[in-house]
Amino acid sequence: MSGPDAAARERVAELRATIADANRRYYVEDAPTLTDAEYDALFRELVELEAAHPELATPDSPTRRVGGAPAPGGRFGEVRHTVPMLSLDNAFSADELRAFDGRVRKGLGLGPAAAPTLWGEADAGEGPAPEAPRYVAELKIDGLAISLRYERGLLVQGATRGDGTTGEDVTANLRTIAAIPQRLAEPLTLEVRGEVYMPKAEFARINAEREEEGLPLYANPRNCGAGSLRQLDPAVTASRRLSAWCYILLEEGPDGRPVVTRQSDALARLAALGFPVEPNRRAGLTVDEVIAFTEAWREPRHELAYETDGVVVKVDDLDAQRRLGMVSRAPRWAIAYKFPPEQVETVVEEIVAYVGRTGSLTPVAHLRPVKVAGSTVARATLHNLDEVRRKDVRAGDTVILHKAGDVIPEVVRVLPDRRPADAVEFRMPETCPECGTGVVRDEGAVRHYCPNGACPARIREALAHFVSRAGMDLEGAGTVVLAQLLARGLVRTRGDLFRLTVEQLEGLDRFARKSAENLAAAIERGRTRPLSRILFALGIPQVGEQTAIDLASWLATTWPPADAEPMGGADGWLARIAGELAALSAERYEAVPGVGPVVGAAIARFFTEPATAGVLPDLVAAGVAPERPAPRPAGGDAGPLAGKTLVVTGSLAGFDRRAAEEAIRAAGGKAAGSVSRKTDYLVAGEGAGSKLATATELGVPVLDEEGFRRLLAGEAP
Ligand code: NAD
Repeated sequence: MSGPDAAARERVAELRATIADANRRYYVEDAPTLTDAEYDALFRELVELEAAHPELATPDSPTRRVGGAPAPGGRFGEVRHTVPMLSLDNAFSADELRAFDGRVRKGLGLGPAAAPTLWGEADAGEGPAPEAPRYVAELKIDGLAISLRYERGLLVQGATRGDGTTGEDVTANLRTIAAIPQRLAEPLTLEVRGEVYMPKAEFARINAEREEEGLPLYANPRNCGAGSLRQLDPAVTASRRLSAWCYILLEEGPDGRPVVTRQSDALARLAALGFPVEPNRRAGLTVDEVIAFTEAWREPRHELAYETDGVVVKVDDLDAQRRLGMVSRAPRWAIAYKFPPEQVETVVEEIVAYVGRTGSLTPVAHLRPVKVAGSTVARATLHNLDEVRRKDVRAGDTVILHKAGDVIPEVVRVLPDRRPADAVEFRMPETCPECGTGVVRDEGAVRHYCPNGACPARIREALAHFVSRAGMDLEGAGTVVLAQLLARGLVRTRGDLFRLTVEQLEGLDRFARKSAENLAAAIERGRTRPLSRILFALGIPQVGEQTAIDLASWLATTWPPADAEPMGGADGWLARIAGELAALSAERYEAVPGVGPVVGAAIARFFTEPATAGVLPDLVAAGVAPERPAPRPAGGDAGPLAGKTLVVTGSLAGFDRRAAEEAIRAAGGKAAGSVSRKTDYLVAGEGAGSKLATATELGVPVLDEEGFRRLLAGEAP
């Protein structure tokens, strides 16, 4: 073959490869490298090429399949969907919505829509022509599709969409989502489908935390939500505050027929049964009204607490839906209108490094204020020095800006042609901008930090982290209040927060008796937070929510509180734990799941260094007494890797680092960070370097990805 066809064939192959790679990163790793708009443009190009060259279409093309096979390594059990969970075709303009309406009319044997000018005159005020299809418009939630099965009114199974036919069994994790009913008021047997999503504010919080820890960031709430739902430990899912909206009801009456005849009735019934249903839906719309609906939501959508990337338009009549049917991956009776991506241009005026609670110095771009996705933005974090260099952002540059997940301002790229001659390259300060201590960067690490534990910026930020919602959740103690408490000398340590009196709080600026009492009540509630929350709130470097949960359950298992023992007080359990921690070596912490030498050393340092060693005793003295820990579930140590320590290095095709480590833990093993004589196996992917050399030197067996998979499956590697 030669000429244009050969070119088309080549392009089709290229697009399929790029899309397959993007799908893996998005659905399996929850870490996309393309923006959705970039992905949609490639996908659209492939659809058009296949339409123009039908001989190039193949059944395994991504245009024919629902993306998102279950995670490799069998992280979760599989669930076969009784009715396939489909994707949706996209529309990007009013014309494409009209074309969809045209296809629906044709499929239902209805006449084409009259030219709007004709019936605008004739039918003014009388609604659409009688044969016009009626649609339901629902906001398209950018989340993760799930199905929930109820038997006799009880939630029995929850699954992800997966490849549309087989999904992952995430029942235990879905049970932690408060919005999802565990039990219905009536003993009904039915299936409900919907979207699990992460609220924008929660996404911003988690990413801010990950940035401070030097962990890779989630690209958007969708990926963060999917990553949170597909955790092996339901406690981690629970800590992430996911929510859900439901939009499909599969329920049959005794006659075997669906109990509702319209999508709009299904939504109403879902709401009546206690399911969360997105309130901004509209039914009975003609295609023109649908178009007006998409226009009306373009701006206000930014004010919603959750991310919506479009409007899903569905034929309301379920019988008409059945007659229209589906094509390979999507129904013919629905379409997803996608809002245009919001990107704007602005100028970077300056790049400034800020000090966070663990001392991390974060470069932040100060921008010429610009309106994007519903608000005016004047700053965007650039995360770390590597990122500044990778994007090559300089003061003076004109840049493209968007909001990741509709909430976090992000510099997408620089416009190099617009760079002024005097653009200034960013340099990381050599001394801390707040306390003047020399800035440190550990070998091989991305972050720079101020090592001074007494740095005022670190104290301020550490307190802010301590009181935050994911930490001790002391509602009402925001940054303004903390700044006053510090300035007046009322608070110097975390424990001091628990020594505050209503009278002292009442003396703060703009504090009335009521707000003082509210804050005092929040502080009172804070005294009995679970140990994992207390440990996380301490802001120990390297200890995120999951490690805090693991550490707390390890402590509670190793030193279980006796029944009669008080939790707080000088003779209580927390005081005993504080004593134990002060004497533990870094190696001991490596018994905690997921803790390797680096994290173990960070924890040991925190509980022994003079600046932080007194933190737990101070909290005990101030009356903090954690909730009594639940006993550890039985069978936690079973699994094909029980008692084995593995290290993962290099890049694996089917797992990112975190997924590989989770798979190890799920199989009962320990995932360590560095190779030693105690390591049972090194899993080495592409590009493995010094760890591979060390393993070879020490005689530690080395596995490739295949061998690793076999080991996970309980076979010989
Ligand atoms: P989709 O997200 O375009 O639409 C289908 C999905 O919409 C459904 O499965 C459902 O989960 C969801 N949905 C939300 N609200 C709904 C409602 N009210 N009614 C019905 N469904 C609703 O399709 P997809 O197949 O899930 O994913 C493809 C999209 O994912 C792409 O268009 C792109 O935006 C994104 N993606 C991005 C990358 C990347 O690299 N950035 C890679 C793969 C996919």
